[in-house]
Amino acid sequence: MTQPRRVLITGGNRGIGRAIAESFVAAGDSVAITSRDGSGPEGATAIACDVTDSASVDAAFDEAEQALGGPVEVLVANAGITDDGLLMRMSDESFAKVIDTNLAGAFRCVRRASKGMIRLRHGRIVLISSIVAVTGGPGQVNYAASKAGLIGMARSITRELGGRGITANVVTPGYIDTDMTRGLPEAQREAFVAATPAGRFAQPEEVAAAVRFLASDDAAYISGAVLPVDGGLGMGH
Ligand code: NDP
Repeated sequence: MTQPRRVLITGGNRGIGRAIAESFVAAGDSVAITSRDGSGPEGATAIACDVTDSASVDAAFDEAEQALGGPVEVLVANAGITDDGLLMRMSDESFAKVIDTNLAGAFRCVRRASKGMIRLRHGRIVLISSIVAVTGGPGQVNYAASKAGLIGMARSITRELGGRGITANVVTPGYIDTDMTRGLPEAQREAFVAATPAGRFAQPEEVAAAVRFLASDDAAYISGAVLPVDGGLGMGH
């Protein structure tokens, strides 16, 4: 793959996805992002897309490929939500909604992206999971299950498509300073920092750096891997 690459990032209007998009733009790549309201960072083509809707995903890829001038070469499946609650009180709707967004949403994007990547005989798929996928988290049965599923997804893609120049890897962030974690109660934020050997939350740009590496030519022989960006929080898993 030579630069500029055609890159699509889901959920690229804020938080981690936005930092990832900005870092690809800064590197000179051709970038499209999706968000539900169609907004996005400067330098990227912003496309409205809801990852829970297959038709919306397929249409967003059509639009992105038109704007970027060819099939997507790098897909970063980043869009995600939480809907925490204790197991005994978690509703079917809450469980289904989180799985539909985080796990099935990534599946819809990967399925669509794979068509172009197979034709090109190269591609980079990076799935944004969470360290909770491997450590578990109280009140996060839905979220942890959705994020753990991404690991099986990346490894199955690797077995199916690894011989066609396509890699699929997973990044597992720890606690990153975004809208998602800013809503946590102060006591919980302090407890997370205390449990993290690095002793701090990370900035979204620190996740973007790991994604950029996995999307690079240098990472051509890395596939099915799980790369933590967690300040040591999940060590040993
Ligand atoms: P934010 O809440 O800041 O951003 C979430 C993004 O996902 C937004 O762009 C949002 O778009 C998009 N999104 C949500 N639902 C949908 C949907 N149905 N269709 C399309 N887009 C959707 O979260 P973060 O930046 O913190 O998180 C990004 C990813 O990183 C998530 O997958 C999250 O699980 C993961 N992560 C985050 C951690 C953290 O500490 N922050 C830790 C570990 C993992 P919209 O503006 O339209 O809502």
